[in-house]
Amino acid sequence: MYCCDVLADLAGRDIIHIAPLSSLTGRILTEIDTEYFFVFGDGRPSYVGINYCPFCGRALSRQLWNMEKKKQ
Ligand SMILES: [Zn+2]
Repeated sequence: MYCCDVLADLAGRDIIHIAPLSSLTGRILTEIDTEYFFVFGDGRPSYVGINYCPFCGRALSRQLWNMEKKKQ
């Protein structure tokens, strides 16, 4: 589920949120088809979708996986 220990650690501290896009209740600031988000703010949070893990560089979003599939 986690690509690296840093992401796992941040997810455990609610800095990274992992859930289907459709299940989020706050404001989503990006248009990335992903289940990985940075969370900003308390109460009603804002989410920033992540294409690549900023720590290990692996692709995290469905958008990128679909683009990879089309290339093959
Ligand atoms: Zn990672």
